[in-house]
Amino acid sequence: MKKATFLAGLLTVLVASVLVVLESGKDSAIVNAASRIKVFSAEKGTYVMSDEVVKTKEEWKKILTPEQFHVLREKGTERAFTGKYATSHEHGIYRCAGCGLDLFRSEDKFESGTGWPSFTAPIAKENVKTEVDRSWFTTRTEVLCRRCGGHLGHVFNDGPKPTGLRYCMNSAALQFVATK
Ligand code: FE
Repeated sequence: MKKATFLAGLLTVLVASVLVVLESGKDSAIVNAASRIKVFSAEKGTYVMSDEVVKTKEEWKKILTPEQFHVLREKGTERAFTGKYATSHEHGIYRCAGCGLDLFRSEDKFESGTGWPSFTAPIAKENVKTEVDRSWFTTRTEVLCRRCGGHLGHVFNDGPKPTGLRYCMNSAALQFVATK
C-alpha cells in the first residue's frame, strides 16, 4: 500500500513536470513569434501586412551605428541642432533607421526651432505607437516605431495646425528617402 502511494506520488510529480515544460515551451514560442501588423506603405499608397521586427541587443548593435543604437534601443536623445534632419526641407519620406518602416512625410515637417526634426503627424497612426514616459521627473508621451519598437522621440500638444501636435523626433532614429 505504501509502495503504491509512493508510485502514485512519483507519477503525479512526473506528469506535473512534463506539463510545466510543455507550458514554458509554448510561452517562449509566443515571445519569439513576430506578430503580423497592418501598416501604411508610402510606396504602395495603401496599407500592407508586415511582420514585427524582433532582434536581440547584439543583433541591433551589428546593424546600427552607435548613435542610432543609443537613440533607438536605449531611448537616447541626440543633442539639439546636431542631427542631420533638424532643418532639412527636401521632399520625401522619413523611415525608421532601425527597420525601414515609413514614419513621416516632409509635407508634415515644420520648423519648430527646437533643433530636432518636428512633424505635425506620422504618415499613418498605425505606423507608430506611444507610451507614457515618466523619466526625468516629468510625464511625456514617448513615440516608438510600430514595427521594431525603436524609440523615435516624444509627442507634445504644442504643435501648429492642423493637428496641434509636435512630434519631436531624433534625426538618428530616421532615414530620409527623397521622393518626387
Ligand atoms: Fe522600426
